Amino acid sequence: MSTERTFSIIKPDATRRNLTGGVTKMLEDAGLRVVASKRIHMTKEQAEGFYAVHKERPFFNDLVSFMISGPVVVQVLEGENAMAKNREVMGATNPANADEGTIRKVYAESIEANTVHGSDSLENAAIEIAYFFKPEEIVG
Ligand code: ADP
Ligand code: MG
Repeated sequence: MSTERTFSIIKPDATRRNLTGGVTKMLEDAGLRVVASKRIHMTKEQAEGFYAVHKERPFFNDLVSFMISGPVVVQVLEGENAMAKNREVMGATNPANADEGTIRKVYAESIEANTVHGSDSLENAAIEIAYFFKPEEIVG
């Protein structure tokens, strides 16, 4: 076990419903510590760059439109096995398949408007953190 950092986004469906605190509480209750956080409204270019790995997927344009439809909260989460722990508390991409007690089971509206993003590897976590945060903005 080792202390890791991972990257999270509270998506526009959640900020619209005033769920920043509710989602963050579930992350904290899972043992994750918010060591950086800011509320931003992504530009189209920022969202396209962030989701570039998905650009051939049929849902890419809709996903980008959704992610710029309102503010998001980008966060760096720290803790033991933070990457896997965050994926676990997030739940499955499609809330219909998400386990009880996960963020997506509790809060997600649909497979697209699914409340949270979380890095899927430590390598991607480092890339995604650097996409939104300067080192001095992260205070552990
Ligand atoms: P995850 O966020 O669980 O890592 P993916 O990386 O596969 O899932 O997809 C990125 C995001 O794209 C999802 O969180 C969701 O918002 C959206 N998405 C994924 N699959 C679909 C789909 N079939 N239809 C619409 N949107 C989707
Ligand atoms: Mg993903």
